[in-house]
Amino acid sequence: MTSTYDPRMLPLAAFARSGEQLSGSTPMADLPRLYAQSVDAAHEVDAHFSVSGSERFDATGHPQVWLHASGHCQLTLECQRCLRPARVGLAFERDFRFVANEALAAVEDEESEEDVLVFARQFDLLDLVEDELLMAMPLVPMHETCPVTPRFSVADADFDATAPQSANPFAVLADLKRTPSAD
Ligand SMILES: [Zn+2]
Repeated sequence: MTSTYDPRMLPLAAFARSGEQLSGSTPMADLPRLYAQSVDAAHEVDAHFSVSGSERFDATGHPQVWLHASGHCQLTLECQRCLRPARVGLAFERDFRFVANEALAAVEDEESEEDVLVFARQFDLLDLVEDELLMAMPLVPMHETCPVTPRFSVADADFDATAPQSANPFAVLADLKRTPSAD
């Protein structure tokens, strides 16, 4: 089904009632808080999202708006081990329930497995996707396997100038350990 919904202005109630699904992608540049985390912004591509709505009734018979949303993207962050750019995959999948106001949301969010948000007639889905992807960012981004040996924390110009390019970095490291003072 082709959806005509604008993800920046999703009519929550109608979308939930329809039970429709909205999937799409957006350039990372349109998610500025996330984009700002990139160390290689020029090469960032799209973030993908998918959301489906449902209307469920609470114990008193009142309709409640629910969204089931997921999203994923890749972002280039600085590896905290080798300090080089690392492509990191971010993803989330969550249920959201909407209530009338902040006070209810604060109370019910504590007690609920789903995330409880404040209802808005026109809801910015991309803002939510961006929030969730930001929260999915690792606290300490790292390559699974770094492309190079971590640099030495103390700069050593002599070492850099004399080490042959082909030296096995682990062997070099072992030599350094055996001779703690090169001077
Ligand atoms: Zn690394």
